[in-house]
Amino acid sequence: MLKAKETAVTGLTKGIEGLFKKNKVVYHKGTGKFLSPNNVEVTGLDGKVSVLKAKNILIATGSVPSGFPGIEIDEKQIVTSTGALELQKVPKKMVVIGAGVIGLELGSVWQRLGAEVTVVEYLGAIGAGMDSEMAKAFHRTLTKQGFKFKLGTKVTGTEKLSDGRVGVKVEAAKGGNAETLEADVVLVSIGRKPYTEGLGLENIGIQIDERGRIPIDQEFRTHVPNVRCIGDVTYGAMLAHKAEEEGIAAVEYINGGHGHVNYDVIPSVIYTHPEVAWCGKTEEEVKKSGAAYTVGTFPFAANSRARTNADAEGMVKIISDKETDRVLGIHIIGPNAGEMIAEGVLAMEYGASSEDIARTCHAHPTLSEAFKEAAMASYNKPIHF
Ligand code: NAD
Repeated sequence: MLKAKETAVTGLTKGIEGLFKKNKVVYHKGTGKFLSPNNVEVTGLDGKVSVLKAKNILIATGSVPSGFPGIEIDEKQIVTSTGALELQKVPKKMVVIGAGVIGLELGSVWQRLGAEVTVVEYLGAIGAGMDSEMAKAFHRTLTKQGFKFKLGTKVTGTEKLSDGRVGVKVEAAKGGNAETLEADVVLVSIGRKPYTEGLGLENIGIQIDERGRIPIDQEFRTHVPNVRCIGDVTYGAMLAHKAEEEGIAAVEYINGGHGHVNYDVIPSVIYTHPEVAWCGKTEEEVKKSGAAYTVGTFPFAANSRARTNADAEGMVKIISDKETDRVLGIHIIGPNAGEMIAEGVLAMEYGASSEDIARTCHAHPTLSEAFKEAAMASYNKPIHF
C-alpha cells in the first residue's frame, strides 16, 4: 500500500513539474524569503543563494500541523498526518487526538487495516463543525466499524510506558475522571496553523493576525499591494480546492481582470468509508439565520445501486428554503459521497431549487438517484421510500 501511495504521489508531483515546463514556468527548488516587496531571496536545495526580482508576488505557503503543548512529535510513535501516512506496520492500538477531518480519515485507514483506534475529542461531537444530524449518524457508522470515541474529553499529556509504548493522559473536558490510554501510535490531529516561518514578512512590513494568518483584501492583496496571498496561510477553510480557486482568481486580478470565488459553495469531503461530503449551510446554520426551511432525506439502504454493491450505509440530506425552495445545504454520508457532492455544488452554484434537481433525469441504477430522491423529499416526497 505504501509503495502504491509513493508511486501515485511521485507521479502526480512529477506531473506538476511537467506542466511547469510545458507552460514555461521556471521552478526554483528552495526556500524563499522576502528581502523587499519586489525581491525574494531563494536558498536552493543545493545551498546556493540567489535573488529573484518580480513585479507581482503570490504567497501560497500553506499550513503546518498545530502542535500540542508538552507533546513531542517524533513522526514515528507520536505522529501528525505526515507520519501517519508512513507507518511501517499496522499499530495494535492507536490513539487519535482530535475527531476532525485528519483524525477520522487516517484513523479510518489504520482501523480498517486492523488497528484498535480510540479517538479523543474535546467537543461533544465528531466531524469538526459538520451538520449535527449527519455527525451523529457518522459517529454511529464509525462506532459500528469498531472505532472507540471519547467525546467531551481533553488530553493533558503523554508519558513513555515501561514497555516502550505511549500513555495518553486524558480527562473529562469539564474536569475529573482522569485515565491513561495505552497506544503504540498516537496521532495528533487538532488542527493546522498558517505557515510563515522564515518567509521574511517583517522585511516588507506584513503583520500576521492573532491566528497567524496573513491579512488580505477582497482581491487577495496583502498590506503590500503587489504581494498577494491565497490558501491555508490566509482566511477561510484549509482546503486544496479552495486554494486552487483562489490562485486562479488572484492571477486574474494581477492580469487586470476580475477573479471570483464563491465561498458559500466550497465542498467539504471526509475521505473515510463511507465518505462524508457537504456544501452550503448546515441545518444549525440555517436555523440560526432565521429562514424557514424544509429538509428532505433519502437513505442509501433504499437505493438500488448501493444495495447491489452491498455498500448501503448512509443517506443524502437536502435543506431548502421553505418559501422559494432554493437549496441551502446538501449533506451526504455514503459510498462515493465525495464525487456525488459535485452535483450539489453545481446545483447550488446555479441557484437551483430542490424541485429543479428532483425533475432532472438521473440514470438508473446509480447512487445519484438517492440524491434526486432527497431533493424530491425536500420539495414534496420521495418515490422509493
Ligand atoms: P480539524 O480542525 O478538522 O479538527 C480538529 C479537531 O480536534 C476538532 O474537532 C477539535 O475540537 C479537536 N481538538 C482540538 N484541540 C483538542 C484537544 N486539545 N483535545 C482533543 N481534541 C481537540 O483539524 P485537522 O483534522 O487536524 O485538519 C486540519 C485542517 O486540514 C482542517 O482545516 C481540515 O479541513 C484540513 N484537511 C482537510 C482534508 C479534507 O478535506 N479531506 C484532509 C486533510 C486536512
